[in-house]
Amino acid sequence: MTGAGWPPVDEAGLFGLDNLPYGSASRSGGDWFVAVRIGNHALDLGAAFRHLSPGDADLFSDGRLDRLLATGPRTWDRVRANASTWLSDGQFRPVLQPLLHPLDSLRTRLAFTVGDYVDFYAAEQHATNVGQMFRPGQAALPPNWKHLPIGYHGRAGTIVVSGTGITRPRGQYRGVDGQLAFGPSTCLDIEAEVAFVVGRGTALGQSVPVADFPQYVFGVALLNDWSARDVQRWEAAPLGPLLGKSFATSLSAWITPLPALAAARRRPPVRDEPMLPYLQDAEDPWGLDLQLEVRLNGALVSRPPFLGMYWSAAQMLAHMTVNGASLRPGDVFASGTVSGPGRDQWGSLLELTWDGTEPLRLDDGSQRGFLQDGDEVVIRATAPTRDGRLALGEVSGRVRPAG
Ligand code: CA
Repeated sequence: MTGAGWPPVDEAGLFGLDNLPYGSASRSGGDWFVAVRIGNHALDLGAAFRHLSPGDADLFSDGRLDRLLATGPRTWDRVRANASTWLSDGQFRPVLQPLLHPLDSLRTRLAFTVGDYVDFYAAEQHATNVGQMFRPGQAALPPNWKHLPIGYHGRAGTIVVSGTGITRPRGQYRGVDGQLAFGPSTCLDIEAEVAFVVGRGTALGQSVPVADFPQYVFGVALLNDWSARDVQRWEAAPLGPLLGKSFATSLSAWITPLPALAAARRRPPVRDEPMLPYLQDAEDPWGLDLQLEVRLNGALVSRPPFLGMYWSAAQMLAHMTVNGASLRPGDVFASGTVSGPGRDQWGSLLELTWDGTEPLRLDDGSQRGFLQDGDEVVIRATAPTRDGRLALGEVSGRVRPAG
């Protein structure tokens, strides 16, 4: 830190004062602490509060975001305002400088204890592409698709932090010869998605209207919904997905608070079917102008735009609680694969290679239908701020051979 400017933002400004995402980190052999990322450093937020605002220090004492999540937006805003003030005002530098650690000296883990996990299917282009491949000759979109955000309950216990190795799953599927087969998946894929982290919980029987979205959602992250297409295709008739998805789902280590995305809010696309009143969002549009990118072994293979998503996250939350299902702090819901209209904007290899029939050519000259052992996938995203851009925390993972 000697000689570095204050605050220590990164050169591109992607993790500046208007971002300040939260994580859980530790130094080698040290205790886990709640961290706020600034540039390529992480501030030990719990220690900062113990020095500068001890009344709130207990919120961070377990080293994860769990207690903070459960409080609600007034406390979220107060904590964020404190962190922002301390990092921008030079008078706090002597206190904070010893509490700032270079990211490359830290380990990270999931920033919070994950509650329930729901995955939606909210990109019209993705649903259309999958429909054309999986149900040829039929209408690409299911008949309910424009009346409700379709989703399924995923496996919360196998959500892993970015950087965790992904072991190729085993399962049963129909082989290319049409015979039943069992073994390591031969069609391991990714799904580039945006995840929303629930803060405040609700009571059973309570629903969250679209307008109350910012009262309950704490922040945003990137998610990779690893998918074994051969397993998924065989098991998911008529239910599922189950084992084709549940082996691992990767989540960013850094959670960007929802208010950091205020300048990224836009109107969602025009909906061409009437929606029930509980889904209407004309007064509370939560389209978000997030620009994703997907890299496979370093090669840029797709740039999915989140802005075109048919259903907003506020509608997803309203839908998943309209039956009275309760929320818990740490619940996660994800958008579904983000795919835009252009062929270079699709968020899965299934689509990018049209079910493996049109392989991608990578920088090293090799070709990919689906993922090979050793392949690394990194998903990143940026969003506009008032005067620049910020980045969401990346989500990465490398494929390991089946055990
Ligand atoms: Ca998915």
